[in-house]
Amino acid sequence: MIYQRPKGTRDLFALELKRIEAINYQARQFFESSGYVEIKTPTFEFAQLFARSIGETTDIVEKEMYLFEVDKRQYVLRPEGTASVLRAFIENNLRVPARFLYIGPMFRKERPQKGRYREFLQIGIELLGEGEPFYDAEMIEQANRFLNLIGLNEKIIEINSIGCPECRRRYKEKLLQYLKPKIDRVCPDCQRRFQRNFLRIFDCKNKTCQIIYTDAPKITDNLCDQCLNHYNQVKNFLNAFSIEYIENKKLVRGLDYYTRTVFEFKHRGLGAQNTILAGGRYDLLMKELGGKDLACLGWAMGVERLLLILPENLPEIKQKKKIFIIVIGERFISEMVKIRGLIQQRDGICILGNPSATLKSQLKKANRIQSDYVIIFGEDEEKKGVYTVRNMETGYQESVEIKSFADYLNKLLQ
Ligand code: ATP
Ligand code: MG
Repeated sequence: MIYQRPKGTRDLFALELKRIEAINYQARQFFESSGYVEIKTPTFEFAQLFARSIGETTDIVEKEMYLFEVDKRQYVLRPEGTASVLRAFIENNLRVPARFLYIGPMFRKERPQKGRYREFLQIGIELLGEGEPFYDAEMIEQANRFLNLIGLNEKIIEINSIGCPECRRRYKEKLLQYLKPKIDRVCPDCQRRFQRNFLRIFDCKNKTCQIIYTDAPKITDNLCDQCLNHYNQVKNFLNAFSIEYIENKKLVRGLDYYTRTVFEFKHRGLGAQNTILAGGRYDLLMKELGGKDLACLGWAMGVERLLLILPENLPEIKQKKKIFIIVIGERFISEMVKIRGLIQQRDGICILGNPSATLKSQLKKANRIQSDYVIIFGEDEEKKGVYTVRNMETGYQESVEIKSFADYLNKLLQ
């Protein structure tokens, strides 16, 4: 093999593309009905946008971005959607409150495995300009409702609050007190994390680290009054929405921009990559990127991970019938085109045989490409004013009068 696709990328074919389309379609329908409008930002942006928003020292910026330089300017293939949506909002002078839905590919240079790719698809929503805890709960409620709608009823919703910079500053000191005597027992990654973005030590998968952190003081128990109040209200509203959730005091997020509420939706059937949807509040980011001081929140879900757990045939995927048309002789091409028009109008798949080839070879081809039906038109049919229709699965063949053929197709392709 001379050429292979890059590691962590995939070639997508018919059924999988259909399933992706079905989910995208549902997302558009559902979120548009909740006031979200779709936004499409470029797939590459200036590198600085992400360094600034996600945080210089996050895993994504440090090692996962596809960075490239053109004419001495540095760009990246976008690793996530939020920074781009905010950039677009600020750049286009849009008004708040604004609700955006985005659907598209993201790129991260991480170790590929089941449910983890280097190019992957996300569906995300962002609500800009709402700081009230009611909206945190509503976001979670909507994510939950959408996942139910597409058939994912079994999921675990985890929430936490990681406070504001003031809570974190005070908490960091406390955590440091606890960790100081143990610091040489945690992994080198965590030692580094502790210097740079300390909350993310709780993300570590290392067993020894996990044991040490189990008894560590938690940010959730060290929130300032306003953040604690906000968090309690989020929980009250979640109860009002009848959403079941688990409080996970070790839940932090990979990106630096989060404040207060963070949440993840997990699924048991996914193994290690079990988070399907993740998000939270990021009240400081808009200002950080040069916009107004506006509270915002959002989440994103990984489409590939959804596809791994949803049934193969999603209800909205209609299997189209494939019909192969054989005419015997080039003088029947106009008839062929007429038949094809009728089939395509009715949303069938239509493939044309070669009019100069023999009936036998054309039937063989129809079989090879797994046609459901073959329609045959030659001199015989012309004389009788009929089309011959052959069911390729059963081999049953019948003559259908040309004048009632449209009705016949309506039934066949319904
Ligand atoms: P993880 O902990 O799995 O790396 P993350 O915190 O990096 O996730 P986010 O940036 O919050 O993930 O992205 C939101 C969602 O996008 C994830 O919950 C997941 O479903 C999906 N996702 C993230 N990275 C990948 C990837 N490399 N391949 C496929 N899906 C991904
Ligand atoms: Mg990640």
